[in-house]
Amino acid sequence: MSPTLVRDSTHRMLEVNPSLTYAEIGRLLGVSRERIRQVAGKRRRNIRSCKICGQLIQVRRKRVTQTAYRLCYCAECWAIAKQRRSIANRIDFTCEVCGIDFSRTEGIVRCMKKRGHKIRWCSRRCHGKWLGTNR
Ligand SMILES: [Zn+2]
Ligand SMILES: [Zn+2]
Repeated sequence: MSPTLVRDSTHRMLEVNPSLTYAEIGRLLGVSRERIRQVAGKRRRNIRSCKICGQLIQVRRKRVTQTAYRLCYCAECWAIAKQRRSIANRIDFTCEVCGIDFSRTEGIVRCMKKRGHKIRWCSRRCHGKWLGTNR
């Protein structure tokens, strides 16, 4: 098999399935793992495919963040996933002072609980008012 053919085939296989190992590709092409590493080495490192849409992602391009890259999301799917998560993790409360409904993220609620606080006010202002009338 010619070096060009090995290189092209390797790149094509990695595009289709970026999780293939060099050994697997080598076995499929009938060449050594070392040979695959040589032709694929440089390219391999920053390519992954999005686990939602399958689009190839590179951390330096298209402003994919490190976190998104690590979790295998492209920029678009990451934005959607983040939005979904932030909605899903919100807990609703009713303010004891002004009566409006508001929400806090699970993380904040957990953190407040740890410090022995309950979430009772929608804002600092309402907290202040409450302190003013309950002292
Ligand atoms: Zn995607
Ligand atoms: Zn309030």
